[in-house]
Amino acid sequence: MSFRTQCFLALMALGLMAGALARPRAGGVGLAMILAVVGAAAFSWALSRSLRRRAGKLAAALENLEGRPHGRADVDDELGPVVQAWRRVTGRFEARLKEQTLDRARLEAVLAGMLEGVLVVDAQGRIRLVNDAATHLLRLAASPIGHHYLEIIRHPDVTTLVAAALDGGQPSPVELSSPHDPEVVFAARAVPTPDPTRGAVLVLHDTTAVRRTDRIRRDFVANVSHELRTPLTAIRGYLEALQDAPADAPERTAYLAVIARHTAHMERLVRDLLRLARLEAGQDPVEWAPVELPDLFEAVIQDLEPAIAAKRQRVEAHVPREAVTIVTDRDKLKSLLRNLVENASTYSPEATTIRLEAARAGDDVTVQVIDEGPGIPEADLSRIFERFYRVDAGRSRESGGAGLGLSIARHLAERMGSEIRAANRPEGGAVFTVRLPQPATWI
Ligand code: ADP
Repeated sequence: MSFRTQCFLALMALGLMAGALARPRAGGVGLAMILAVVGAAAFSWALSRSLRRRAGKLAAALENLEGRPHGRADVDDELGPVVQAWRRVTGRFEARLKEQTLDRARLEAVLAGMLEGVLVVDAQGRIRLVNDAATHLLRLAASPIGHHYLEIIRHPDVTTLVAAALDGGQPSPVELSSPHDPEVVFAARAVPTPDPTRGAVLVLHDTTAVRRTDRIRRDFVANVSHELRTPLTAIRGYLEALQDAPADAPERTAYLAVIARHTAHMERLVRDLLRLARLEAGQDPVEWAPVELPDLFEAVIQDLEPAIAAKRQRVEAHVPREAVTIVTDRDKLKSLLRNLVENASTYSPEATTIRLEAARAGDDVTVQVIDEGPGIPEADLSRIFERFYRVDAGRSRESGGAGLGLSIARHLAERMGSEIRAANRPEGGAVFTVRLPQPATWI
């Protein structure tokens, strides 16, 4: 029953009372009184029932935080405007809440995608936000959120930074190595968050790769300088000796020969360095073409014939029928094999045999260079492909090598999508294997 009906009933009761008072017949007052009491009772009962029902409706409507009107029935009566106002308010509140949830999801996505580690603490020092990079760099517990940073961060330098930022300071960034892995280096920086949060943000930047590159560059410069200094010192010494020697001194020819040898060494060094630089920069395009392996092996042997003959060595080449034609970059493979065969000859004794063998391995083709030399110490096997790495520096330098040959070979293999491995044969001697991928459709 609406308020209008209830008011109508109330007026009717009042009317009855007025009627009875206006006609003061015998018993009229009594009847009017009875009617008024009954009318008032009925009216109050109806009113309280109606109020209870409306209160129930209003409560249900207020509890419904979705805030959308559900048709006219519940907004049509007198409480309708209250319900509608509430729904508008809750609607706005809900939209704001959604926006905030979205903002947080966006923030979390940005933090998750960042390479930098980020950790946010509130004014009480409790961790409020942390991304994967920070979790990884600081090796944090699985769910540090809500914990005090001192409980969770085990790195004293980092906790000092956070404490300083929480005090409102601007501590200078520091560079630290991970307590779990000294190879991992990172820079840490902490800044106070603006009022009113008064917390702190810790940002971690993994500088391991930058440091490593820096070290490699420094080592490289030191190595090149060292490699150049030796022949340059020798050349200068012999030039001075030449200047001091009488014009017809017989040793002049020997001096000139030494100068020529050292100049050739420097020339080779510079050539190798340039080759390496081009390969590392990816400037050498790969030119795929069908290649006849027996011809390629022959060309490599021909190129090295003088050095091989000088040591009375023999080269045996073997290519099975199924590996005669392969698809590869001819120049790169030739250069790579030339390097391996030259090493095999250099590091093997006189009158030994070097074998050049091809074989099919599934879709791939392998090429091996096998020698009868001393082999490579097990401890050096994994390092011989590094730049400037030499097992026996004295011997290697004597042969004109600067430890760049195998590094070039590895880059050449990588450019062709192949891999190169070194091993020792049980019967003695080294074996280098190059695996050349040959997709079935190429053959
Ligand atoms: P280099 O130009 O000085 O020969 P490489 O990069 O070609 O440098 O080789 C690196 C080192 O690996 C060499 O100094 C040598 O000690 C070792 N090595 C390479 N090939 C062989 C081999 N066939 N037998 C023994 N040692 C080898």
